[in-house]
Amino acid sequence: MAIPRFTLKKIFFTAIEVILLLVLFSCGDNISLNSPNGLVVIIKADDLGDTTPNWNRFMKMVVDKQINAGVGIIAKKVTKSGSITEIQRVSNILQDNKFPVIEFWNHGYDHSKINGVEEFMRTADNFQFEHIQLAQNFFVQNFHFTAHTFSAPFNKTSKETLSVLSHFPEINVWMCYQKLETEYSKDWKDPNQKVIHLYDKHIILNVDYLYVHDFPADKIIDNYNEDKNKPYILIQIHPAGWTDEDFNEFEQLIHFYKDSNRAMFMTPYQYYQYLHKNLTPND
Ligand SMILES: [Zn+2]
Repeated sequence: MAIPRFTLKKIFFTAIEVILLLVLFSCGDNISLNSPNGLVVIIKADDLGDTTPNWNRFMKMVVDKQINAGVGIIAKKVTKSGSITEIQRVSNILQDNKFPVIEFWNHGYDHSKINGVEEFMRTADNFQFEHIQLAQNFFVQNFHFTAHTFSAPFNKTSKETLSVLSHFPEINVWMCYQKLETEYSKDWKDPNQKVIHLYDKHIILNVDYLYVHDFPADKIIDNYNEDKNKPYILIQIHPAGWTDEDFNEFEQLIHFYKDSNRAMFMTPYQYYQYLHKNLTPND
């Protein structure tokens, strides 16, 4: 007996429905972390030492506006117990997915520039090793967490930095300004250029926008149509010197990205884990 045409059509559409459901279901993991429709924005805020009113205002804004950011600490410049307590408190504020809202990262030990020689620019490897180690130890002893991200003061490094970093397996993310730092290894993969696999231990994130003093958000907003085709953008800022106007501009940028789901914010190590599809870190 021939199968009625109507039944064949029903089977066909049921099959399509099942396939669609399977596709949707298989995307479920990513949706539960956050749902980036493309662009990921990573904030790299440099040079935190002792906390100041500006730093407190910046960190409060990140928390209140429900975005995320990476804040680079200069270990030797955190000297007051009040600063240590405050950084520790902020480090315990978590997103729903258990990642910290603010990721504090290793921005060197002293941010030194002696006779024109920067901390990680052609200084001896044992000097560089000691400085990264001192800062890593400072994080564990004072804040009770491990830093997973490194970025050199002045974005100045040399080939020594590359070999020294290999002694710190817990550092998985290296934020660079590749116009200045060209001596990096092919083992450190740039997600802009290469696919990241689960077994890749190191990623390099390249700075897209670098502002030393002010924060002209309109320049970044103007570039959105170009930026939205990139997997991520990295914005380097220095909130310690911001005026009210710069804070307002930062707030504008947050709303620009968030209000119409144009992008989502991640911290550097969160982005690393996101690329590795590890949604719940153990530490
Ligand atoms: Zn710096």
